[in-house]
Amino acid sequence: MEIKLEDLKILYSSEQLQTRIAEVSKELNNFYNGEEVIAICVLKGAVVFATDLVRHLDMPLKIEFIRLSSYGSSTTTSGKVNAVDIKLPDLNGKNVLIIEDIVDTGLTAKFLVDFIHMNFHVKTLKFCSLLDKKITRKVDIEPDYYCFDVDDKFVVGYGLDYDGYYRNLPYIGYKE
Ligand code: 5GP
Repeated sequence: MEIKLEDLKILYSSEQLQTRIAEVSKELNNFYNGEEVIAICVLKGAVVFATDLVRHLDMPLKIEFIRLSSYGSSTTTSGKVNAVDIKLPDLNGKNVLIIEDIVDTGLTAKFLVDFIHMNFHVKTLKFCSLLDKKITRKVDIEPDYYCFDVDDKFVVGYGLDYDGYYRNLPYIGYKE
């Protein structure tokens, strides 16, 4: 499938994204109640969402970045998660918040949650995803927080790419 900018339909506008991110941030602020958080942004897809989200969070917060990949340059997952760069500080006793762009098969989310539990005794571990594509789930995992549902569409924009492009779009789009 090739995706051209002129073929894209808007699924979630910039305004819808920003309104919903503010709502989810309130839930996170209520949950953490001022306690320190280590946010882990999963590169590259979550970078736009994470930078908007953290600006609403009102506790002491540090951001870490890790890089995983499962898609290569296609529009379907390879089914295998590659840890491209997963260096993390000591997370023992910390409130850890993973920030992801989309949970699709759930393989990436499960890999990360298992990785953190295997390596650290965290105080809390929460998973916050911009999008939740429940219909394509292959493993039993749900994000603790998410902004919007997506059905079985390949979406781009607001951090999500097609072959590296379209991450800079301020909206979430799809090709019909
Ligand atoms: P999962 O491991 O849950 O199958 O997929 C996670 C990763 O696949 C996401 O972090 C994202 O990078 C990529 N992905 C899944 N669905 C889509 C989609 O609809 N559009 C784009 N651009 N990437 C997707």
